[in-house]
Amino acid sequence: MAIDFDLGADVAALRTELRALVDAHVPADFLGACTDDPADLATAQAFCRTLAADGQLCPAWPGEYGGRDASPWEQTAVREEMWAAHEPRGAQYMGVNWVGPTIMRHGTPGQRARHLPPIAHGEVIWCQGFSEPDAGSDLASLTTSARRVLDGDGHGDGDTWVINGQKIWTSYATMAQWCFLLARTSKEERRQQGLTVFLVPMDDPAIEVRPIASMLGPHHLNEVFFDELRVGDDAVLGEVGSGWQVVQEVLAFERVGIARYARCERLLQWAPVALGDAWEQLPAELHTRWTRMLVHCRRARLLAYRVVAQQSAGTVQPGYAATYRIAVTTLDQESADLLVELAAAAPAGAEAERFRGAVDDHWTYSRAATVSSGAIEIQRVLLARALLSHQVTG
Ligand SMILES: Cc1cc2nc3c(=O)[nH]c(=O)nc-3n(C[C@H](O)[C@H](O)[C@H](O)COP(=O)(O)OP(=O)(O)OC[C@H]3O[C@@H](n4cnc5c(N)ncnc54)[C@H](O)[C@@H]3O)c2cc1C
Repeated sequence: MAIDFDLGADVAALRTELRALVDAHVPADFLGACTDDPADLATAQAFCRTLAADGQLCPAWPGEYGGRDASPWEQTAVREEMWAAHEPRGAQYMGVNWVGPTIMRHGTPGQRARHLPPIAHGEVIWCQGFSEPDAGSDLASLTTSARRVLDGDGHGDGDTWVINGQKIWTSYATMAQWCFLLARTSKEERRQQGLTVFLVPMDDPAIEVRPIASMLGPHHLNEVFFDELRVGDDAVLGEVGSGWQVVQEVLAFERVGIARYARCERLLQWAPVALGDAWEQLPAELHTRWTRMLVHCRRARLLAYRVVAQQSAGTVQPGYAATYRIAVTTLDQESADLLVELAAAAPAGAEAERFRGAVDDHWTYSRAATVSSGAIEIQRVLLARALLSHQVTG
């Protein structure tokens, strides 16, 4: 039976519009916002405002928060088109994918009014302060602390929180204006209890950001230090002590929020064009692997669509998000290895050079795919647990 990936006329029209916007506003050799060239960050910042003005930054958000109540499938098309074009939204994809939706679900009216419009207008970058030097896969062992200082009247309202500790691998922290921070507010019997999410401004002098040099570019990974950072009660997202539940939701949104399969497919489709006559001369084995990899793209896409459908119905199971994540991150790495071999066979010329640049970037990013947003071994553990408890089938 043929599988139909057609998401309808609205989504097709949206894709055409998004491609036209990318063509008009993003340089053809753009490879993301975290490069050595500050012009790339400027491109991403300007492009977010362009998308927002066109109603395409947060289409599926409710109108009251700056969206246009579009279907989750339109939002899916946005994320596919953006990722395929090397994510010209830059770091702001995180605000759209998971920061905004989480504030919508757990924020107070004041937090929603303060934080959602700047995200919807493409004006603010957030970073995610979860991992610590001794708390990655085992996130519940984090030690960054938030200590409550009573306001003096004993009623617990208008209190101050004092935050101390260190985060690591914090993407985009040098660019971010806000941090979605997970800290320990009490010691309980289970380590998953006693954690709380804080929304903290990155321009506070009690926060120090130290970039980590890496192959992902100068602005990607960072250490973030908190030294007696003082924030008010209005920085607490959700209930005090409910941080673990909030973060589980964040991770489910985050794990389907990056449509890596769309870039893999775009690059694979580009290969015959970039190689020109050299394409026919390739060994049959490479043609076979290329075809198989396209099938792998479609498989990952289907698994993503299953999670999107579940999320829209409010019934997502972590096992399905893990299944998608395993498929898409292995696709990322296997397609990158194949594309490097194909790029080596491309002739000289501007088109082939652009192709080689894009493949090089894809390969570099793909190395981290099976670690970021939860290591693949942990995804396999989640899937195994879900299978054993019959929460997922097939
Ligand atoms: C590109 C990139 C961007 C990132 N951005 C952010 C960010 O913005 N914010 C943030 O908070 N974090 C971020 N991270 C951190 C990321 O979430 C962690 O690296 C990841 O959760 C793994 O944690 P770790 O590095 O401490 O490795 P560890 O947890 O120490 O794991 C090391 C190895 O041991 C394996 N392992 C650990 N426990 C088990 C187990 N129980 N069973 C089987 N195998 C196990 C792991 O799978 C891994 O292979 C980023 C990481 C990368 C690579």
